[in-house]
Amino acid sequence: MPEAGADSLLIYGFTAMIAHLSMSLGQTLFHRYLGHSRLGGRFFKNHIQFHHVHYAGNHVVSTHYLDSGDNNTLFFAMPVAVIVGLSYLFLRLDLLVVQLAVMSLSFYGHYYLDNQYHVAGSWLARFSWFRRKQQLHFIHHRHGSCNFAVIDFFWDRLLGTYRSVKPRRGSAIPIAASRLRSSQARFWPWNSGLPLWSAFRRPGS
Ligand SMILES: [Zn+2]
Ligand SMILES: [Zn+2]
Repeated sequence: MPEAGADSLLIYGFTAMIAHLSMSLGQTLFHRYLGHSRLGGRFFKNHIQFHHVHYAGNHVVSTHYLDSGDNNTLFFAMPVAVIVGLSYLFLRLDLLVVQLAVMSLSFYGHYYLDNQYHVAGSWLARFSWFRRKQQLHFIHHRHGSCNFAVIDFFWDRLLGTYRSVKPRRGSAIPIAASRLRSSQARFWPWNSGLPLWSAFRRPGS
């Protein structure tokens, strides 16, 4: 039955896409709200005191990837386990397998690409998509309040934290000006660089 085959292929593709997108959104939010906030605890310390110290300013590559040796996998695995656990209640077994496989691949993809961005002469540098994403990631290392994604930078566009590689014409961006435009910050309270709940506090309190 070719029609049924095409249908299930479509469902598999859709499940795979949602699984990857939820991983890349999760990574972007984790990076933003835990990696760069004291709320993140050990993850925050590890990210700021190691990754951002070893790769800062114009020193964004090394011959080998510098790893703190601290494994953050478990940290990210917890919310993933919740998602997969909830999906177990609603999804068919074959779709659950697709979801698990794609989430694992996506997780590894994020980890691998972040490493490769910082490796001098990475084999991936022959691809223009890689060089573009690498530049966007380097901007994150220069201005810590933008480009939190590793693969899908449209999440940053959606969150208002996207910063393109090219400076806008007529407006040289000083390094210190890493905050967002105030119009954006007003629209999305979480863009002000303050914790989300601060939006509900009255000014001055
Ligand atoms: Zn990095
Ligand atoms: Zn970071």
